[in-house]
Amino acid sequence: MKLFVHLVSLMASTSVFFILQTEAAVVQYKVINNAKGTKGSTRFEKEIGVNYTLATLAAASEFTWKIFKQGKSNERKNYTLVCLYIENFEGIVVTKNSDIVFSAPFIANFRGDVKEEFTSQVYHAAAHVWQWWGNDQAPEELIHGIADLVMMKAEEDEQERQLLLRPQRRNRNNGSRRPNVPWKFILRFLDFFQGKDSEFVAKLNKRMETGYSDSFFVDAAGKGIEKLWEQFQTHFCGCPPRRLTVSP
Ligand SMILES: [Zn+2]
Repeated sequence: MKLFVHLVSLMASTSVFFILQTEAAVVQYKVINNAKGTKGSTRFEKEIGVNYTLATLAAASEFTWKIFKQGKSNERKNYTLVCLYIENFEGIVVTKNSDIVFSAPFIANFRGDVKEEFTSQVYHAAAHVWQWWGNDQAPEELIHGIADLVMMKAEEDEQERQLLLRPQRRNRNNGSRRPNVPWKFILRFLDFFQGKDSEFVAKLNKRMETGYSDSFFVDAAGKGIEKLWEQFQTHFCGCPPRRLTVSP
C-alpha cells in the first residue's frame, strides 16, 4: 500500500529531480563491530546482537521523525546511511553526523539490563543524528534535552515500549552531566510545552536548521523563553521566577 502511494506520487510529479531525490532518500542501517575479542563485544553479541541493533536504529529513526514531524524525506537531513560502531573507548556513546559510536567498555561494565540501557541510548543518539544542531550555535544542553525528550517519549509510547522493554520513564537530567541551573530542567521544560502543543519541539527543531537564536522559542510557542521559563517555574514550584540566561 505504501509502495502504491509512493508510485502514484512519483507519477504525479513532473520533476525528475524530485524523483531522484525521493529514490535517494531510503535510509540504510549498518552495524560495525570494531571491538571484537573484547568483553564488551562478547556481551554485545550475547545480550544485544546486530539484528536487534539494526531494528532499533530503524525504529528510533522513525520515532524521531514522528516527534520532529519529518514524515517526508525532503523534510529531514538527506542521510542515506546510519552506522553504529562498537568501539573501544571510555565513555558511553558519541554521535557525529550519521555515525553513532558506542563504547564496548561501557557495555562490558554496565550493571543491570544492558539491552534496555543500550536501546535508550540508541534513541537518544538517533535523535542527535536527525535533529538540527543550530549550526553548532545552540546551547549544548538544549541539543541534549531535545534528544532526551525523544528518548523519553519513546519510553512513554506503548508501541515503542515493546521495543524499549522499559516499563517506566526515567529522568535523565538528575546526573552531573548537565549541572547548570536552570538547564538541568531542560527535559521537563521541553516536555511541559510539548504536552501543551505536540508540535512544539518539531517547530523548535525546524528553526534550528541553519542557526540558533533565543527568539526561536517565540516562533515555537508564541512567547519568549523568559516568559516560558516563568510559566514553567510557576507551574511546577509556585516560586518566584528566576532569571534565565539562554545563550551560551
Ligand atoms: Zn546527547
